[in-house]
Amino acid sequence: MGSGDAFCSGGRFQTCIALAPEASAPPHVLIDCGATSLVALRQQQIDPNEIDTVLITHLHGDHFAGLPFLVLDGQFRRRTHDLTVVGPPGTGARLAEAMETMFPGSSTIQRRFTVRVRKHTDRRASELGPLHITPFEVRHASGAPAYAIRVETTTGSVAYSGDTEWTEALLQAADGADLFLCEGYSPAPTRWHLDLDTLHHHRDRFTCEQMLLTHLSPTALASDLTGWHIAHDGLHADL
Ligand SMILES: [Zn+2]
Ligand SMILES: [Zn+2]
Repeated sequence: MGSGDAFCSGGRFQTCIALAPEASAPPHVLIDCGATSLVALRQQQIDPNEIDTVLITHLHGDHFAGLPFLVLDGQFRRRTHDLTVVGPPGTGARLAEAMETMFPGSSTIQRRFTVRVRKHTDRRASELGPLHITPFEVRHASGAPAYAIRVETTTGSVAYSGDTEWTEALLQAADGADLFLCEGYSPAPTRWHLDLDTLHHHRDRFTCEQMLLTHLSPTALASDLTGWHIAHDGLHADL
């Protein structure tokens, strides 16, 4: 849904990945929900009310600030089924603060559905419906731990780096995955983010089937991307 950085460089929406665990059904799971995610979902004709699970990598606005809009949209459009958010420790408080900042009173109002918030525990796998979810703590300052997230179903597996400096945890998160979505923020090393030089250095160590770069800054978008696969908004992948 969204392959951009925090500033929508290149006209790309902020991070949002929609998963359809059952090929016959529309997507109902998101990995990250940046502030622009509602418009991104609607452009792809996905009803936000159909989303029942949101997995959050870390608590920066370009990865979680779409949640208040997702919740309020459900409230105004008479959503009735519950929403589960799985994120870093502190996600519930940060979501309530974000809602109160943008729409005072919105975090405590009575709704027809419940927003359940669960927290990641580093490398502890959990089951959620058809999803087998494993978070791997990475290196990115956001006021709470940040995670790469690996999601497996009976038919496929996908991993996403989130935002992070280089860490060996990425190799484990992506190990054998059908698709690894990886931050490719800058051409050269930048604090708290992944760069193409470092990724190139480690590239042969990844055992994923395919790596797709996302979350590119303006300098990365303008650099020589020959040999890399680059995500774009609206990209569809069958796993
Ligand atoms: Zn980001
Ligand atoms: Zn970030």
